[in-house]
Amino acid sequence: MAEKKTKKESTSKKDTKKQAAPAAKAAEASKAPTVSSKEARVGVYICHCGTNIAGSVDIPAVQEYAKTLPNVAWVDNYQYMCSTPGQKKIEENIKEHNLTGIVVAACSPRLHEPTFRTATKEGGLNPFRFEMANIREQGSWVHMHDREGATDKAKDAIRIAVAKAALLQDLVPKAVPVEKAALVVGAGVAGMQAALDLANAGIKTYLVEKNPTIGGRMSQLDKTFPTLDCSQCILTPKMVDVGRAENIELMTYAEIAEVEGYIGNFDVTIRRKPRGVLTPVEAEAKGIVGGGCNGCGDCEAVCPVIKPNPFEMDMKPRKAIYIYHPQVVPLIYTVDFDSCIKCGLCVTACGEKKAIDLEAKDEFVKVKVGTAILALGYDMFPIEKKDEWGYQKYDNVVNSLEFERLICASGPTGGHLVRPSDGVTPKKVAFLLCAGSRDNTGIGKPYCSRFCCMYSLKHAHQIIEKIPGCQPYLFYMDIRSFGKMYEEFYYRIQDEGAKFMRGRVANILEDPVTKNLTVVAEDTLLNRPINLEVDMVVLAAAVQPSSDTDRTRKLFGVSCSQDGWLLEAHPKLNPCGTTTAGVFLAGVCQGPKDIPDTVASAEGAASAASIPIHKGEVELEPYFAQCIEEKCAGCGMCVNLCPYQALALVEKEGRKVMQVTEAKCKGCGTCGGFCPGGAIWMQHFATPQIVAQIDAFLLGGAK
Ligand code: FAD
Ligand code: SF4
Ligand code: SF4
Ligand code: SF4
Ligand code: SF4
Ligand code: SF4
Ligand code: SF4
Repeated sequence: MAEKKTKKESTSKKDTKKQAAPAAKAAEASKAPTVSSKEARVGVYICHCGTNIAGSVDIPAVQEYAKTLPNVAWVDNYQYMCSTPGQKKIEENIKEHNLTGIVVAACSPRLHEPTFRTATKEGGLNPFRFEMANIREQGSWVHMHDREGATDKAKDAIRIAVAKAALLQDLVPKAVPVEKAALVVGAGVAGMQAALDLANAGIKTYLVEKNPTIGGRMSQLDKTFPTLDCSQCILTPKMVDVGRAENIELMTYAEIAEVEGYIGNFDVTIRRKPRGVLTPVEAEAKGIVGGGCNGCGDCEAVCPVIKPNPFEMDMKPRKAIYIYHPQVVPLIYTVDFDSCIKCGLCVTACGEKKAIDLEAKDEFVKVKVGTAILALGYDMFPIEKKDEWGYQKYDNVVNSLEFERLICASGPTGGHLVRPSDGVTPKKVAFLLCAGSRDNTGIGKPYCSRFCCMYSLKHAHQIIEKIPGCQPYLFYMDIRSFGKMYEEFYYRIQDEGAKFMRGRVANILEDPVTKNLTVVAEDTLLNRPINLEVDMVVLAAAVQPSSDTDRTRKLFGVSCSQDGWLLEAHPKLNPCGTTTAGVFLAGVCQGPKDIPDTVASAEGAASAASIPIHKGEVELEPYFAQCIEEKCAGCGMCVNLCPYQALALVEKEGRKVMQVTEAKCKGCGTCGGFCPGGAIWMQHFATPQIVAQIDAFLLGGAK
């Protein structure tokens, strides 16, 4: 740092002027589309952002410095550059001072690059003649207590941005037509809602679900907080609507195999796993008149293979030919080929319907869509990793989703809550909240799972209601009842008699004879140890991204957070979008959300995904690679390096040259960085522009 400062101090205005020379040389050497700073007249605008920037950066000093930079024709500052008066300054000054490029020194381009591009365009310049210098997120905010350092850094950032702005070119975005169809991956309540909204907006929608039925986790729940309405009752009509919707092509027991293309034109390959049972439509297509599965269940009755049913959290058996639960959509049986012994009894039982095909294989279906929504949901965290709570070690410790099935009238015990060890109705039940959430031990998850406080209150209510005299104890850190009517629900459960103990549970011990459990904890409000004997423990386990999330998101080029939840384009301003244009997020795959928030996010995603489709055309950012044909040796080495298959060698005037399919190119720069002959020109990130920025940084120090 000290060394850098010495360099900066010794740099004169003469030095800064020198910076144009290497850049010009590079441009000349490349024989690329010419860029020159000779005639450039750059306007620089320094934003105060209230005191966000002005509190740590000496704005007048930065303004005076900017005036000394080569090619700078106008410098101004303003309280809030993104406001209408701030943008008006840019628009008017472009004409008044005949500016050829604009630099705004303000926040991150992620926030306001589009705003200032528009202002640049309104002023009469090509919108790509704009460059942003981030002096807030990368300046004032991180050097809040170092005014001199923050001011120097702002000068550096502006000098570098001006060096590039002087060499910017007019670029024209490419307009591409948008396919009038959408894809939704995952058919929980989020995916179903998104698909219904898209379909109702007149858009053909492919809904792909990896399980044999739609419905997701919500179909496993008994009642839902805070209204306590039956989950299946409110979900089933939606499932039926999805099954019936003309515009929805439902593909259950399927997953995404491959994705190619870009916004407006995604080519998606879907793998349909072998179901082993034909729908009536499929049967008809095969010439089996009046055939196909009608859900009669005769096959299931004769099947000799018994397996645990994951829908029932493995607490109820199912056959090798099965349906998850009675309300499945579509009502079609599925053969579990991992356990089927191919005895053929089901085929005989099915008879003339000829619905069963024990030789079924994977099928691959290709669809073309304009936009896509990922609604991949969540899985339960394997809470057995927290050894101290005895899950999967002690019979009477269950997780919350198992509790949902045990208390549900259609569940494995017909809705009678009983201890798994002996089938006896419990009289004392402990609920452990934050089980594996808000856990920084490295074993659990650091985040709050957001719905477990509320569903644990619901669980407490359910046992008070169903089992007279049964006492629920809730061990909690904080109760987070943030939603509409949630706090009122919390008070209600307190009034109903649930007991709350504030403190983390250290461990759980089991009496090997009675199978009763002792919860060992500390009451942090009363500051005393607790040893509470109960009949049963319910762990409000953390949730995590569903098992196939990572593979699927990579196919769509969507990023994820450290915890694996899918990352939105901007947490506040673009919560449904992703950094891949045309791909959107809905529901819990983005982070834990209860049902109301899930449905709201799905509606948001559907609305966002429908906009490009309704517009019929989208503009792609023109950051494409370009081949400088006279420099291309036709070696073809770049072709396989392109992660988006945007490059191909073509025959031209008797020799091979590389050709870019602009619509496929994402401007990643891989080919540009690699080409040994410097034959690839990266628009907006061209070698002379980058070299000018490096020169400006190294050769022209701030004063
Ligand atoms: P999910 O329901 O998980 O659906 C995701 C779907 O995508 C699934 O069908 C899955 O099979 C499918 N899928 C996943 N990956 C792929 C892939 N790669 N390809 C194709 N398909 C894929 N919320 C409330 O508001 N009220 C309550 O009372 C309540 N109680 C709860 C109780 C418990 C014990 C738990 C754990 C949660 C509870 N919730 C409650 C939260 C609720 O479950 C969620 O808000 C809701 O289910 C989220 O829906 P989703 O569609 O985002 O995810
Ligand atoms: Fe703040 Fe950015 Fe707006 Fe300036 S442009 S006021 S830095 S948000
Ligand atoms: Fe379907 Fe045939 Fe089984 Fe009946 S016997 S549920 S028609 S596969
Ligand atoms: Fe069950 Fe498979 Fe035999 Fe059919 S063939 S009855 S699915 S084991
Ligand atoms: Fe803990 Fe409640 Fe957050 Fe769940 S929602 S992690 S129980 S604070
Ligand atoms: Fe041409 Fe360079 Fe690609 Fe070789 S690596 S084909 S020289 S663009
Ligand atoms: Fe492919 Fe090059 Fe475009 Fe990257 S910049 S997507 S490597 S053509």
